Amino acid sequence: MSEKKHEILPGVGCDVTNCKFNTVDCRCSAETIRVRGERAETKGETCCSTFCPRGSC
Ligand code: SF4
Repeated sequence: MSEKKHEILPGVGCDVTNCKFNTVDCRCSAETIRVRGERAETKGETCCSTFCPRGSC
């Protein structure tokens, strides 16, 4: 999935500093995000599927 960097996504804070969309102030610059975890019962069972490691996509 190729997604472009965008303006800061309002209301989203993110500590995943290795994601190419993560900004210096720990916000998200993706146009939209999708969070997966269809059967989640705990926080740890959810994840951002828009995550893209820096330099890898
Ligand atoms: S795409 Fe997901 S993991 Fe990456 S900065 Fe945005 S919220 Fe965080």
